[in-house]
Amino acid sequence: MPLLPIISRPIPDHRRPYSCYRLDLPGGVKDRPRTTAEDALESLQERQLLCKLCSAPVTRQKEAVSKNGLHEHVFFNPSGITFEIRCFLRAPGCSVEGEPTTAFSWFSGYSWQYGLCSTCLTHLGWRFTAANDSFFALISNRLME
Ligand SMILES: [Zn+2]
Repeated sequence: MPLLPIISRPIPDHRRPYSCYRLDLPGGVKDRPRTTAEDALESLQERQLLCKLCSAPVTRQKEAVSKNGLHEHVFFNPSGITFEIRCFLRAPGCSVEGEPTTAFSWFSGYSWQYGLCSTCLTHLGWRFTAANDSFFALISNRLME
């Protein structure tokens, strides 16, 4: 019986990555599905507040801050005009005008300047500045969502 010749055949190379690795992605915390409540909170935080006159973006809900324990305040100016204001850390759509003054300041220790809509120049409120703090106090009824 003749011996069969030994045929040299290439050994399949299973180490090549495209043929032998399975991609198992870890299901970590960041991969878990978001809840509706988280989505709702984020969309609320990202909600823009617009200039009521020209609809330009002024600030976002997430910039809301409390001053003296409140986000919303009601103040009178020396002419007796009532302003209902809301406090925001930043207001990128607001231009700050005028020299800082502490005259009749509603927030003790803070000076103020006018805050105008950067687009239509409507008076939207004031920027208050102290030694280590600043914020915008925007007139509620001059903003819309
Ligand atoms: Zn405007």
